[in-house]
Amino acid sequence: MISINSKLPQAGTTIFTVMSALAAEVGAINLSQGFPDYETSPELIELVNQAMRKGYNQYAPMAGYLPLREEISKKTEKLYGAYYNPDTEITVTAGGTQAIYTAITTVINPNDEVIVFEPAFDCYAPAIKVAGGMVRSLELEPPDYRIKWDMVKKLISNRTRMIILNSPHNPTATILQKEDIDALQDIVKNRDIFILSDEVYEHLIYDGNIHHSMARYPDLAARSFIIASFGKPFHATGWKVGYCMAPAPLMSEFRKIHQFLVFCVNLPIQVAISSYLKNEEHYLGLSEFFREKRDYFRKGLESTRFEMLPCSGSYFQSVRYGRISDEKDLQLAMRLTKDFGVAVIPVSAFYGKGTDHHVLRFCFAKKQETLDKAVDRLIKV
Ligand code: GLN
Repeated sequence: MISINSKLPQAGTTIFTVMSALAAEVGAINLSQGFPDYETSPELIELVNQAMRKGYNQYAPMAGYLPLREEISKKTEKLYGAYYNPDTEITVTAGGTQAIYTAITTVINPNDEVIVFEPAFDCYAPAIKVAGGMVRSLELEPPDYRIKWDMVKKLISNRTRMIILNSPHNPTATILQKEDIDALQDIVKNRDIFILSDEVYEHLIYDGNIHHSMARYPDLAARSFIIASFGKPFHATGWKVGYCMAPAPLMSEFRKIHQFLVFCVNLPIQVAISSYLKNEEHYLGLSEFFREKRDYFRKGLESTRFEMLPCSGSYFQSVRYGRISDEKDLQLAMRLTKDFGVAVIPVSAFYGKGTDHHVLRFCFAKKQETLDKAVDRLIKV
């Protein structure tokens, strides 16, 4: 029997796949994996159909359909006051995850160190490891999950090559504040450290907060790969289209990897999104749309014994369950799914060492009736 020397010996199947499969198996309401259960806009679906009928069915340009890159550039300039050249600084990717993998592979060489804040979205560490890099993680703690920048300073070595940030944050729903930006600027100044900024929830931000995109800060933007997604804002996670923005010399290296990983991304959806983006309401209205869902779900959770953590962005709501049980979060997540019919994500899955603060994550990107049904069940827990 031929044997494989595994590149990721510790990796199992992602928690999203595990929980969604379990939810389907037992017929539970799925508030685990983050995706909407309502329809994608009929207008956007019609634009995809039109693009297919008009013959946009062959390979897209390697870097993405140019009118889409132009719209991305305009949107970025309008929102964050930064100009990214559509020709040389923007690449359309097969979702955020591919963009993240490509950006990490672009700059990480064996033994390079990458600082990751945990809980962290689960695709960062594997990409670093496959590239031969070393994960240097800093664990953040509930309830506020703030980054302790003096601890970050201690983690920096002459091998630190990248810091990964994610705001609005999955799974904790926290956001970077101006103080975080100041501290980050201070730390990376005069050092060869890249930033990977996962901003896929950029439009889902609440309570009058602004999104501190790296694009807003020229000194940070100069070293950043900014990752964004269309799946989240346009309620179409299955389409797997996102993008990466970075200064031209960084993007030129990114594309060397991108072209051999996917070559290009499906064309008709790019064509459709390029038209859809022309109406800024399609993305500016999102924070209000999701804020209503957040508030509705939180109101429902008030009748349960779960204790809510703050939610400033993203479509996730985390809770503590100390009043309910002292079992492990994974165990409770399984029990909620099987016995109460509501699937959730145990937040320990986002810590490299499996640290368990007894926190669960719910996704509230769901129809009101789904949230109602889920709350009815959670009240019984
Ligand atoms: N981003 C989504 C989540 O956090 C789904 C990710 C995935 O399934 N890979 O739930």
